[in-house]
Amino acid sequence: MNYARLKPEIAVERLIKNLRSKGISDERVLDAFRKTPRHLFVDAALQSQAYDDNALPIGFSVTISQPYVVALMTQLLELQGGEKILEIGTGSGFQAAILAQFTRRVYTIERHRELAEVTRKKLRALNYYNITFKTGDGTKGWPQHAPFDRIIVTAGAPTVPQALSQQLAVDGRMIIPAGSRASQTLDVFDKTEQGISKRSVGNVVFVPLIGENGWQENR
Ligand code: SAM
Repeated sequence: MNYARLKPEIAVERLIKNLRSKGISDERVLDAFRKTPRHLFVDAALQSQAYDDNALPIGFSVTISQPYVVALMTQLLELQGGEKILEIGTGSGFQAAILAQFTRRVYTIERHRELAEVTRKKLRALNYYNITFKTGDGTKGWPQHAPFDRIIVTAGAPTVPQALSQQLAVDGRMIIPAGSRASQTLDVFDKTEQGISKRSVGNVVFVPLIGENGWQENR
């Protein structure tokens, strides 16, 4: 469906119908999509595709994630409203904007300085005030603000960075795509006093998580 011929409020309802048909059932997540203008998170030239269920390029060889994957990861976080969240891979800021609508504070880290700055300004202009930004290597986490109730990694890791496991709170949950550079499984880690358990919920393709505890920049 080409959004060019549809108003955003109609295009987003079609997207929501599509997400429902793929298994997204948390009404709060679907409502957050309704309130988040995805067409403002992509270049003007791509706005006609903003409500299709596809990842889109945002420069720097990275993408805004596919809406279904954003919705799935958000649903899997099972947010209750008071959590402190760490996101690795700010990118366009769309995932952070969704999370910010039903939690206390989102801390987000992006490795590309220019992209991080553009996104920070955009989210401020859109009146998101409970997102804290950092430019740097997210594979090291953000020790000053740890522990986090939820950690969401939006780039594909070779393995789970140890710093992130350590910075996850007891009773916390981390969602991370892990595997090869070309494809990953979406892994959910739950931390309790007894230890950490893992389950995989499907296959995904993310741009690589590049950093000290991720992939190297040049293969
Ligand atoms: N959450 C983003 C969104 O809503 O648009 C998705 C962004 S994209 C799929 C993944 C992002 O992770 C890219 O912007 C990339 O630059 C960033 N990234 C990769 N490795 C990183 C690292 N070690 N630390 C922080 N950001 C990283």
